[in-house]
Amino acid sequence: MKNAVKRSLWVLIPLSSLVIYNILSFFPALTEEYYSRGFYPFIASALSYLNQFTGYSLGEFFVYLTAAFFIALLVYFLAVVFSNKVSEKRKKAFGAVRTFLIAAAMLYSFFVLFWSLGFNRMPVSSSLGYDTEKYTVEELDMLTDKLIVKANQLSHQVLRDSSGYFTVNGGKEAVIEKAPSIYSENALPFMKQIPERRIKHNLVPGLLSSIDSQGIYSPFTFESNVNIDIPDLYFAATCCHEYAHLQGFCKEDEAEFIAFYVTYDCGDPDFMYSGTVMALNHCLSQLRKTSAEYYLKALNKIDNLIYNDFRQHSDYWDRYDTEVSKASDRINDNYLKSNKQSAGIKSYGLMIDILLSMQRNGDI
Ligand SMILES: [Zn+2]
Repeated sequence: MKNAVKRSLWVLIPLSSLVIYNILSFFPALTEEYYSRGFYPFIASALSYLNQFTGYSLGEFFVYLTAAFFIALLVYFLAVVFSNKVSEKRKKAFGAVRTFLIAAAMLYSFFVLFWSLGFNRMPVSSSLGYDTEKYTVEELDMLTDKLIVKANQLSHQVLRDSSGYFTVNGGKEAVIEKAPSIYSENALPFMKQIPERRIKHNLVPGLLSSIDSQGIYSPFTFESNVNIDIPDLYFAATCCHEYAHLQGFCKEDEAEFIAFYVTYDCGDPDFMYSGTVMALNHCLSQLRKTSAEYYLKALNKIDNLIYNDFRQHSDYWDRYDTEVSKASDRINDNYLKSNKQSAGIKSYGLMIDILLSMQRNGDI
C-alpha cells in the first residue's frame, strides 16, 4: 500500500503547477512584476538561446517525435496485452505506459510554469496606462477611417506581382530575417523582455495551413514559428504576433495588438502594410457587427488593391476549410477559454478596445 502511494507521488507535480496557476490568477500585478518581467524572461532568454543554432523549427520536430513515440508505444502496448504473453511482459508494457504518463505530466507542468502563468499578467492596456472603457460606434468608425487612409496609401507603395497581389520585398525569408529587429526597435521596453531571437518557419508545406494556423508559438522550445505558405498579406504581422508570444504575451488579442503596435510606424512598407491591413480587418469585422451603415461606408473607401489582397487571402484559406481545420479551431477555442479568455477565438476582437484607447489618448 505504502509503495502504491509512493509510486503515485508524481501526480503532485502537475497538480501543484495547476494550483500555482489558479492562485496567481488572483494576483495579476504580482504575476506581472515577478513572473512576466522576472522569472519568465530569465528562463525564456536562456532556453531560447539554445534553439538559435538550428534554422529549422525544433518545435515541429518535437511534435513529430512525440507523435511517433506515442504511436509506437500504443502499438507495443496493444500487441502485448492482446497476445498470450507471460505476465512479465505485460508488466513491462504497463510500466512503459506509466513512464509515458509521467513524462506527459512533466511536460504539462513545464507548459504551465514556463508559459501559461503569463495568462495571469496585467492587461497590456493597463501597462500602457489606458483604462478600458466603453466606446461609441463613431469612434470605431473614426479609427477604421484612419486605418483605411493609411492602408490605401501603403497599398500603392508596396511591390506587386503580375496579378496585382502584394508581394514582400526580398521574399518571406527576408521578412523572417528583419522581423526581430523591427520588433525590438519599435516595441516599448515592457514588450521586449527577451533578446533578439530568430523566427522559424514550418518544414512540411501545408502543415500549419491544414490546422488553420498562420503561425504558432512553441512554448516547449521557446520558438516563434510562422506559416511560410500563407499569402504575403499578413505574413509580416504574423511574424511579429508570434514574436510577441515569445516575449511573454500569451493572449491572442494582445499579441495581435503588439504586432500592430510595432509595425504601424516602423518605416518598412511591407510591415506597415501588413500590420495596418490586419488591424483594419479587425475593425471592419467589428463595424459589420455594430452598424451596417458605417460598415458599407467604410467598404466604399477601401482601395481596389487591398480588395485584391483580401481576395487572395480568402481564396487561399478556402482551400483549407476542412474538417481538420474546424476541429483544430474548436481545440484552440477551448484552450483559450480554459485560460480565461472567455471570448475564445473571437478574443482577437478585443484588440480593438486597446486601439480605441490609443485613439482617445491621441496616440494613433
Ligand atoms: Zn497567437
